[in-house]
Amino acid sequence: MLGRYGAARRLPIPDMRVWDARADGELHFDCADTEFNELGIWSKTGHRCGPLGCTGYPALGHLHSVSNSRDMQLNENGRQLRLEDGRIMEADLVIAADGRDSALRAMAGIEVTGWEYRQDGLVATVTTEKSHQFTAWQRFLDEGPLAFLPLKNGQCSIVWTLSSATSKTYLALADKDFLQVLEQASGGILGQMLDVGPRAAFPLRFQYANSYIDQRFALCGDAAHAMHPLAGQGVNAGC
Ligand SMILES: Cc1cc2nc3c(=O)[nH]c(=O)nc-3n(C[C@H](O)[C@H](O)[C@H](O)COP(=O)(O)OP(=O)(O)OC[C@H]3O[C@@H](n4cnc5c(N)ncnc54)[C@H](O)[C@@H]3O)c2cc1C
Repeated sequence: MLGRYGAARRLPIPDMRVWDARADGELHFDCADTEFNELGIWSKTGHRCGPLGCTGYPALGHLHSVSNSRDMQLNENGRQLRLEDGRIMEADLVIAADGRDSALRAMAGIEVTGWEYRQDGLVATVTTEKSHQFTAWQRFLDEGPLAFLPLKNGQCSIVWTLSSATSKTYLALADKDFLQVLEQASGGILGQMLDVGPRAAFPLRFQYANSYIDQRFALCGDAAHAMHPLAGQGVNAGC
């Protein structure tokens, strides 16, 4: 739950509760027990940029953010990128921040090691009857954890780990039926589920690049390593 966005898009989270649907125990993380003012920061990403940037930074001296690179060559002075619009850019160093399926990584010939979890992360914004109390809630269920992450406007962002098959089924449900299964899965902790926005699901994969660097080239963020969102550490690990 960390990012680098503007203050308006950031919400400190002081409290986190984690519990299991099959057992009584609960983990309660409270920043009051620590030397910090928050356990994490919740941030929203933009549409065109990931948390770590806008896809490919030819760096050193001037920092440029470029997108839609067609190909990348290594020459004696650095790297040369040919962009979709025909422009050619040259740089001493190119940093690829173009996500898990990094095209720049492929252009650099760097292979990856990893595996599919055969799970999806289903995400949506929901309105709940009870206040989220600026707490991150996470309930472990048979197929995976269901997280309710507090938003500034009182709504919650959910990240629900499900088998790929269940995720497809839940995506296809009418809103009222989805709210019903969500409420049941939440164990009623936030009361009734009143409303849900558009839903989307992302296949989850563990993956790391076999090398994070090459000549005048470096990977960062998910382009270097992608992980399960269970602990909300993807952005932390990428910074
Ligand atoms: C369901 C789910 C929940 C998650 N929850 C958390 C969480 O709570 N906390 C956390 O820390 N992490 C979480 N993560 C992981 C986190 O989203 C990633 O670690 C993070 O987004 C990686 O950032 P990035 O900038 O490296 O890549 P991305 O976020 O994938 O951004 C890459 C960007 O590059 C752009 N791009 C790619 N190719 C091109 C191209 N050719 N031209 C132009 N643009 C291009 C893409 O459009 C994208 O905007 C979650 C992941 C998932 C799937």
